[in-house]
Amino acid sequence: VDYDEGQGWHDARIVPYGPLSLDPAAMCLHYGQEVFEGMKAYRADDGRVLLFRPQENFKRLNLSNDRLCIPPVDEEFMLECLEKFVSIDADWIPKAPDTSLYLRPFIIAVDPHLGVRAANHYLFMVIASPVGPYYPEGLDPVKIYVETKYVRAVKGGTGFTKTAGNYSSSLKAQYEAKEKNYTQVLWLDGVERKYIEEVGTMNVFFKIDGEIITPSLDGSILGGITRKSAIELMRGWGMKVTERRLSIDELAKAYDDGKLEEAFGTGTAAVISPIGHLNWGDTKIMNINNGEIGPVSQRLYDELTGIQWGKVEDKYGWTVTVK
Ligand code: PMP
Repeated sequence: VDYDEGQGWHDARIVPYGPLSLDPAAMCLHYGQEVFEGMKAYRADDGRVLLFRPQENFKRLNLSNDRLCIPPVDEEFMLECLEKFVSIDADWIPKAPDTSLYLRPFIIAVDPHLGVRAANHYLFMVIASPVGPYYPEGLDPVKIYVETKYVRAVKGGTGFTKTAGNYSSSLKAQYEAKEKNYTQVLWLDGVERKYIEEVGTMNVFFKIDGEIITPSLDGSILGGITRKSAIELMRGWGMKVTERRLSIDELAKAYDDGKLEEAFGTGTAAVISPIGHLNWGDTKIMNINNGEIGPVSQRLYDELTGIQWGKVEDKYGWTVTVK
């Protein structure tokens, strides 16, 4: 779909996959005016093709658009386009267990212009790719490194959006953590370097003394759709879930007191990712739940994947059947 000033979004079309033609001065290549989303289409056993809370993706896309000075999209229209795209050929949604069709809607600024300003011309695209299970060997708890040198986001910045720049500025930390044999980093706030924010491409939850705690969305954390769904599920099960600031010192103290019962990340790709090991500053190592999957992580994983693949009753009306 194109956007031109004066015309709005126009010319929705489905084209064969291939390279793009862009002017070397296209603004997205220089000033990072880009936003994206990540979602999946799932095939149920009865043949239905399901999307999981796609309205939330388009709502979040518009939040990102607003912060990046990109014109808003009509959320219902874009969802309609996406459904048409997914249903061109039902056979491209893989059938094997735990597989899905990953969908990547994104918008780039295409004006050829060397100079910093918001663009007047944009391209909205969706690419699709079949994906297997995120953890082919199963739900093994991951090892996470608490990042103390680099910062991902600060309040007033773009941390709450899905824009390329957030990910390019995270690469160095991720690279160094991988070199030390860690899966991802746990980000702390950019000012005091004290409050827990999120993990790589996931939001993060801790079970401390029976209560589930997750950092509140205060402007520098991405509002994950899996995060929102996990909170709703756990509250529905009668668990106490609190969204608040949680410092790394408080977490370490809870660990020392034997009260840190479980930790996990939430995100579209991994769904639920149990955290078995946290390293804070190479001196404080926390082995959570003996490095095993906790009962809350397992229950959330089963329920969410059950709803997404149409195996469990969708009491919340989260799935959209693609016609
Ligand atoms: N935080 C970041 C930085 C992410 O990239 C993602 C993945 N989109 C998430 C959290 C989780 O969000 P969601 O549950 O919507 O996939």
